[in-house]
Amino acid sequence: MPRRASTIHFVSLGCPKNRVDTEVMLGLAEQCGYRHVADPTDADVIVVNTCGFVESARQESIDTILELAQHRTTGKCRKLVVTGCLSQRYPAELAADLPEVDHLLGSSDMLRLREVLAGTAPRVAVGDPASWLIRASDPRRLSTRGASAYVKLAEGCDRKCAFCVIPSLRGRQRSRAPDDLLAEVHQLARAGVREVNLVAQDTVAYGRDLAPRQDLPSLVARIAEVPGIDWIRLHYLYPDALTKGLLSLFAEHPRVVPYVDMPLQHAADAMLRRMRRGHGRARLRRIIETLRERIPEVVIRTAFIVGHPGETEAEFDELRAFVAWAKLDRVGVFRYSNELDAPSSRLPDQVPAKVAERRARQLMKLQCSVSRRRLRALVGRELDVLVEGPSEEHELVMVGRYYGQAPEVDGCVYLSGAEVRSGEIRRVRITKAADYDLLGEVIDDPPPLRSEPMPSTLAGWSKEGRRVTLRTVF
Ligand code: SF4
Repeated sequence: MPRRASTIHFVSLGCPKNRVDTEVMLGLAEQCGYRHVADPTDADVIVVNTCGFVESARQESIDTILELAQHRTTGKCRKLVVTGCLSQRYPAELAADLPEVDHLLGSSDMLRLREVLAGTAPRVAVGDPASWLIRASDPRRLSTRGASAYVKLAEGCDRKCAFCVIPSLRGRQRSRAPDDLLAEVHQLARAGVREVNLVAQDTVAYGRDLAPRQDLPSLVARIAEVPGIDWIRLHYLYPDALTKGLLSLFAEHPRVVPYVDMPLQHAADAMLRRMRRGHGRARLRRIIETLRERIPEVVIRTAFIVGHPGETEAEFDELRAFVAWAKLDRVGVFRYSNELDAPSSRLPDQVPAKVAERRARQLMKLQCSVSRRRLRALVGRELDVLVEGPSEEHELVMVGRYYGQAPEVDGCVYLSGAEVRSGEIRRVRITKAADYDLLGEVIDDPPPLRSEPMPSTLAGWSKEGRRVTLRTVF
C-alpha cells in the first residue's frame, strides 16, 4: 500500500504580511510531501502562524493555540507548531506555559519548518527577526480568493511610532530587490493572478534602504507592465508627503487602482506629536485635499487609535471633527493597547478602558453614517468588478469587488443578471447599497475564456496551481 501522505493544517492570524509567510510555509510543506487539510482533526501537523502586536491579537493567538492543542492531546496531531510574531516576542514564556506546543518558530524562521517536518529542529527555533526576507524562489502556495494575491515588498520598519512594537518584532526595513519582485509578479500572473496587493509595514519607504536607492513609483510602474496583471493595489501607505510620482500613478495609470490605504492614527496635533508620527493635522488635510483634487474617484481607507495615553476629550473632539470633515470611505477604529515594550506605555495620563471604549463606539457610529452615504452614492454607477467566486451565504450567488474594495477587509458586490466566472473582470451596474456591501447587475457580455493559467512550476510553486482555503482571522 502506498504510504499515506502526511497531512498538515494551517491557521493564519493577523495581517496580510503574515498571510504571505503562511503561504510560504504551505508551499514548503508541500515540497516536503505534506498535503494541506482544511479540518484540523485530519492533520498530522498543525501550524498556527500568530499575531502578537497588540493585546487583542495576542489573546486571539493564545485562544487559537489552546483550541487546536486538543488535537495534539486527544486527536491524531503529532506536532503542534507555533510561528510568527507571538513566538518571536515571547519564546521563553510560550515554551514554559504551553507544554502542548512542540515547536516555536519566530517571524523570520518560516523556512525552518522544513527541519520541524524532518524532525531535526529544536523545540524553540526563534532567530533574529531581521534575518529573513522572502524571495521569488521561496516555495509558496496561494490561499487568497479569486485571482488576487499579496506581494510583500519589504520586511520590517525604521519608524518610531510611540505605540508600536512591530519594528522590534520584524526588525529594520529591508526592501526586496526590484528584479526579485518582478520575478514573483510574473509567476503570479502565469498562475492566473490579476490583482496584486502590494504590502509592507511601511510601503512608501520601499527602496530607501537599497543601494542603489529605489523608489515605490518606479517599482509600481514596472509591475504595471507585467502581462496579465490588471489591478495593482497599494496598502499601508505612511502619510508622508505624497510624491508626484505616486499621485500620477494613482491618477493616470489604468492598472493602479485609485484606492489609498493610509493609516492616519489620529488628527489632533498634540496627539500626533505624542505618537511620534512626525507630522500634524495640516499635512493630513493637505494629503486628502490633494488626493481628492487629483483623483476624484479615489477611495480612502484608514485607521485611527483612540484612548492613547494623554488623549483628552478636546483631542478626541478634534479627531471626530476631522473624520466628519474628511468623509473617508473605510475606517478601522482601534482602542489603544498598552504594550509595555513601547514608549507610549511610559507616558502619563493613561486613558481608562471604559473611556477608550466609549470613544471607539462614538467614532465608529459617526463613520458608519459617512460610509453608508458614500456607498449609496454608487447606486446607478457602472463599475468594473473582479469576480472572486461563490458568496459565503450561497454557492450559487457569486461575488466580486470593485476597485474601492480591498480583499478580505472591505465589503463585496453581490452579482446577478449573468453567469460569471472567478477571475473575470465584468462590467456591473450597481443597483443597491447596504452598510458594507453592494448589489450589482452584470451588464456586459462574457469575456473570452482566458487561457488556462499555466501552473507555475517555477521555484517550488505547487504544481497543481490550486489554492487552499485557510482559516484566517484578521
Ligand atoms: S509605521 Fe507602522 S509598523 Fe512602523 S512603527 Fe509606525 S505603526 Fe509601527
